[in-house]
Amino acid sequence: MKYSLSDIFVCARCGYCCQGETTVSLDEDDRQRMVDDLGMDLDAVREKYWRVTGNIVQMKIVDGHCIFYDENTGCMVHKGRPWRCGQWPLHPSILTDRNNFATIRDSCPGINKELSYEEFCLILQQLIDETDRLKC
Ligand code: SF4
Ligand code: SF4
Repeated sequence: MKYSLSDIFVCARCGYCCQGETTVSLDEDDRQRMVDDLGMDLDAVREKYWRVTGNIVQMKIVDGHCIFYDENTGCMVHKGRPWRCGQWPLHPSILTDRNNFATIRDSCPGINKELSYEEFCLILQQLIDETDRLKC
């Protein structure tokens, strides 16, 4: 049977995953995509939006959430968001760690709660097999 992403996850746009005191880190592709999407030059983006610690680049935190999160419109850099944001909450570690799945499922209202762990993994594995980098 062929499954689609919506069988296991539909984002509820609650913004919970954009809250907290840290964000995902940005690799080089993420940085370039974000710069292109924002239409600004690299130095300006770094100054305004990034928190740089040595080689680690994350997005700044403002009022307990990612600087790009807006409570009315959600992610303000959706097309240019880091690939880890696009992957969330379907992290491959779910496939090998039942506890991790439980933690993620509890924190993300978009996950289909009707499925057992085994059913969820079956579909997630199929979706991962179909693409290099699963993106939600
Ligand atoms: S991925 Fe989950 S936690 Fe994040 S906005 Fe969507 S439903 Fe909410
Ligand atoms: S870049 Fe967008 S999706 Fe990622 S944490 Fe920030 S607001 Fe959320």
